Amino acid sequence: MSSKRKITVAYGDGIGPEIMEATINILEAAGAQLEYDVIEIGEQVYLKGISSGMEPSAFESLRETKVFLKSPITTPQGGGFKSLNVTTRTSFGLFANVRPCKAFSPFIQTHFPKTDMVIIRENEEDLYAGIEHRGTQEVVQSIKLISQPGSEKIVRYAFEYAKKYGRKKVTCMTKDNIMKLADGLFHRTFDEVAKEYPGIQTDHKIIDIGTALIADRPEIFDVIVTLNLYGDIISDVAAQVTGSVGLGGSANVGEEVAMFEAIHGSAPDITGMGIANPSGLLNGAIMMLVHIGQPEVAEKISNAWMKTLEDGIHTGDIYQEGLSTRKVGTKEFAQAVIDRLGQFPETMVPASFDKDDTTPMNTKVKGKPAQKKELIGVDVFIDWNEAGRDPNVIGEKLRQANAGGLQLQLMTNRGVKVFPAGMKETFCTDHWRARFSMADQSSVSHAQILELLGQINSLGFDTIQTANLYSFDGVRGYSLAQGE
Ligand code: NAD
Repeated sequence: MSSKRKITVAYGDGIGPEIMEATINILEAAGAQLEYDVIEIGEQVYLKGISSGMEPSAFESLRETKVFLKSPITTPQGGGFKSLNVTTRTSFGLFANVRPCKAFSPFIQTHFPKTDMVIIRENEEDLYAGIEHRGTQEVVQSIKLISQPGSEKIVRYAFEYAKKYGRKKVTCMTKDNIMKLADGLFHRTFDEVAKEYPGIQTDHKIIDIGTALIADRPEIFDVIVTLNLYGDIISDVAAQVTGSVGLGGSANVGEEVAMFEAIHGSAPDITGMGIANPSGLLNGAIMMLVHIGQPEVAEKISNAWMKTLEDGIHTGDIYQEGLSTRKVGTKEFAQAVIDRLGQFPETMVPASFDKDDTTPMNTKVKGKPAQKKELIGVDVFIDWNEAGRDPNVIGEKLRQANAGGLQLQLMTNRGVKVFPAGMKETFCTDHWRARFSMADQSSVSHAQILELLGQINSLGFDTIQTANLYSFDGVRGYSLAQGE
C-alpha cells in the first residue's frame, strides 16, 4: 500500500489553475507524501445547471479523502447559484473557519509589524442559516440562530487550537450588550469552557470596539473566537491591516473533513497572464500539511517561502521599488521557493510546528442537563396599516382578545414599546408585535394560544407569525421590549 495521503484537489477558475500548479510543484519538490484526486468545481459546473457548483462525484471524493485543497472559483452572477463554499461547509459540517493573520514585515508593507493572530470563526450558524421572511409590505427579517452545542464546539476548538499551537490568549468577541440571548449564549459558553483551560488567558471584547482595535492595535490579539458574521468581517479587516490579503490561507475544519484554500478570489482581471501570486494557496496547503500529520514538510516550505520574500523575489502584487530585488511571475516565484527548500529566513522567525503533538483536538460537546421548560405567553406578529398606524387603535382592539386570561400586555413596533403609553414620536411601520401573557405570568396552554389566534383572526387582523414565550428553569427565555 502507498504511504501517500490521498487528497481531493480542485484547480478552480480564473487564476486557480495557475496557482494550484505552482503550489503542487512546491509540495512535490518538498517531499510531501500526497496523491491527488482531481475534481472539477466552479463556473463550468454551475453552467451545466448544477446549482451547488459541485458534481455528486466531487462529494464522493471528499467523503473518501476527507481533505480538500481548493483553488478559488468564480460564482456566476445572478440565477439561483448557491455559494460552493457555503455548500461545502454545511454539507460536511465544517464548523470552524481558521484564518491566521500575520505580518511579514518589512518585506510586506504593514503599519503593524508585530501582528500574529488567528481568527477562529463559527461557520455554520448565525445569520448565515439564511432563514428570511417578508411578512409585510415594509418589513423583512433574517433569523439569527445560535445554538449551545454550536457555540460550545467552536469555543472548544479555539482553546484546543491555542493549546496545540502554543498560543497564550483567546479573546471572545460578541455584541451581548445588545443581543443578550443570542450573543449572550456564546459569551457565557466561552466563560464556561475557559475554566477548563486555566493556562490560557482569556478576554472578551464587544465586537465594535474589538474591530476598531484590530484596525488600530492588532498586535494585542493572539487567538480570536467569534460568531459567523462578525468573524467574516473581522477576518478581512485583519488580513487588510497585516497586508496579507494576497498571502493569506484559510482552513475550514470539521470533525471529519477539512478544506484548505487562499483567502482571495479567482482574480479574473489577471487570469492567464502568469503573474498571480501563489502564496495564499501555498499557505493554505501548509496548514493542510500540518493537519494531515506532515509538519516537517510544512515547516520546510514555510521557511523557504519566507526566505524567498526576504530575498526580495516578489510577484507584482507585493513588489515594492527599493525593497524588492526581482519582479517575477507565478512559475518563477514557485521555482524560487523550490530553490530555497532547506533554507531558513534570517529576519523573520522561522516556522516551527510541533512534531510530537499528534493528539487530535478534543471538541466534543458536553452539552447541558435537561431544563424545565414552561410556556408562559406568546408574541403575535401582525401586519396592520390602518388608522394612520395609531398604536392606540390597534392596542385597544387587541385588548378585546382574551383566551382564559391570556391577554394583551403590550405592543411594540420594531422592538420599541408603543402601547400602552408609548411615545408619540416613535415611528411605526406596518409590522406589529403584540405580547400576550397571564397577568400573573403563570403557565398557559397551547390550546389557549390557538383560541387567542382565532379571536385575533375574527377581529380582522393578519397574523404573520407567532413566537411562544418560555421560561427555562424559571429563567425568562425571551428579551424584554425596549421600554417594557
Ligand atoms: P479577488 O480576490 O479575485 O480579486 C481582488 C483583486 O486582487 C484583483 O485586482 C486581483 O487581481 C487581485 N488578486 C487576487 N488574488 C491575487 C493573487 N493571487 N495574485 C495577485 N493578485 C491577486 O476578488 P474579486 O475580484 O472580488 O472576485 C473575483 C471572483 O472570485 C468572484 O467571482 C468571486 O465570487 C470569487 N471569489 C471566490 C472565492 C473563493 O473561491 N474562495 C473567494 C472570494 C471571491
